[in-house]
Amino acid sequence: MTSSTSLGFENRFVDLLPGDKESKNFCRQVFDACYSKVKPTSVSNPQIVAYSREVAELLNLPESWMTAKEAAETLGGNRLMPGMDPYAMCYGGHQFGNWAGQLGDGRAINLGERVNSSGQRWVLQLKGSGVTPYSRHADGLAVLRSSVREFLCSEAMHHLGVPTTRALSLVLTGDQVTRDMFYDGNPEREPGAIVCRVAPSFVRFGNFEIFAARQDTVTLRKLMDFTIREYFPHLIATTELQAETLSTETYLRWFDEVCRRTAEMVVHWMRVGFVHGVMNTDNMSILGLTIDYGPYGWLEDYEPTWTPNTTDASGRRYCYGQQPQIAMWNCAQLANAIWPVVQQEEPLREALKTYSATFEANWQTMMAGKLGLRSFNVGADESLVEELLKLLNAIETDMTLFYRQLASLPLESNFGRDCNTDESDVEDELDFFVSHFSVAFYDQRQISKSYKSQIGQWLQKYRNRVRQDGTDDADRQTSMDRINPLYVLRNYLAQQAIDKSEQGDHSMIYELLDVLRDPYRPQKNREIFAEKRPEWARNRAGCSMLSCSS
Ligand code: AMP
Ligand code: MG
Repeated sequence: MTSSTSLGFENRFVDLLPGDKESKNFCRQVFDACYSKVKPTSVSNPQIVAYSREVAELLNLPESWMTAKEAAETLGGNRLMPGMDPYAMCYGGHQFGNWAGQLGDGRAINLGERVNSSGQRWVLQLKGSGVTPYSRHADGLAVLRSSVREFLCSEAMHHLGVPTTRALSLVLTGDQVTRDMFYDGNPEREPGAIVCRVAPSFVRFGNFEIFAARQDTVTLRKLMDFTIREYFPHLIATTELQAETLSTETYLRWFDEVCRRTAEMVVHWMRVGFVHGVMNTDNMSILGLTIDYGPYGWLEDYEPTWTPNTTDASGRRYCYGQQPQIAMWNCAQLANAIWPVVQQEEPLREALKTYSATFEANWQTMMAGKLGLRSFNVGADESLVEELLKLLNAIETDMTLFYRQLASLPLESNFGRDCNTDESDVEDELDFFVSHFSVAFYDQRQISKSYKSQIGQWLQKYRNRVRQDGTDDADRQTSMDRINPLYVLRNYLAQQAIDKSEQGDHSMIYELLDVLRDPYRPQKNREIFAEKRPEWARNRAGCSMLSCSS
């Protein structure tokens, strides 16, 4: 690499925050420190299976470098680039509602911060490159299937307009990793892989929680000051720019903004049908980015109680419909964590209300957008949306396809009962609706007479509402198709790409990456990627349920 090398790496997290005094790499509790320096473990034969050209560009890494041996060696963890000073972060977290103590980067190693030509800083982090002091009893490694999922979903979310960490590369290590995928006592050897994740910061709620739990207010304050100065500089008053520590008001403004960003992120998840699957506080980014793609999934038929995570199957804490409440609960844990520094309960409670207020306002705007309405009329539109969600749940209806079909439904022609129609016309009209939406129905046998009349009534109501706005069909479709994606990373598609990749054919990874680059516009000869889940995938592992084993 020529000019791009000179951009180099910086390591502000390491330079400005207290680190672990112990330099040997063994599992332990790490105190009074935000990180431990640790080098990636070497792998036997690193090969780049796929990379994101957009992320490479963002980092000013030219194609000639990405395709050279040096890239595979670096992104596989075998060599460091000048200026890199790798480290693993110390954090804790609430897992499934319970305090879990120290967790930390057990299999993630931050290489350094790339400063690109626009002066932006991007942390490069390898996931799956060996043990760190935080690995507890695990191996620090990752397998191909979970790495393909993380790589593809990070980029898919970005192109959908959802705040997310990015993925630069997917590397096969050449080594085998043993995993008991179903936790049933049948471990198998699987290909090892490493994803290079990229984000302005990987700091989580749990990074703050660990110091609060240990009553280490000194380090807690240092991390809060660092985080605000580095990532939220707009919140700092000019008078405190040079001050040793920031003011309580600034901490409160910051917490308020974290709540707001978190709410915005979750509204996006609800819009596109994304279910994170493990919303533990250690998986909540302080920047409001979707982070840690593990047993996530995409809603197929609209079912708010659906969770992709087998570990969550009994409690359904992290199911689609619970995500808004859980994110709020997580923000409350962050409030608890920063309380020792802020020392004021009431303003923290107030700031937490920002979460609910932002969520509600954004959710309403988002739902209005999904329906092609100019705005959400509180009162009148609540029942319209509520009835729709009931309808989507009444029979197995693919959420993604339903909204696209709704967008293309002609409303201007007279399909209604408000003109002189006899009964057979009404029947014809209901049949027309059902056939228009049939691509979204998983089981045509579920379409009863009563369902037909319900959907008919709702569509009448919807048409009347659209008429109030005076929006014509073409404009409505254009605006709806900008917010309702056509292509999402359907669970079975990711699994097909994995199945092929495990057989040595990685082409479908790039194919999906390419389809998901442009998720809102129909793509020629790619209709197959927009179809509802085929029946064979209904109960297949990896397609319908995922274990945390990765
Ligand atoms: P997760 O559920 O993936 O968010 O992980 C929870 C914690 O377990 C984090 O501290 C991870 O770093 C750690 N962890 C997960 N898998 C491994 C692994 N294979 N080796 C070491 N640590 C791991
Ligand atoms: Mg995690």
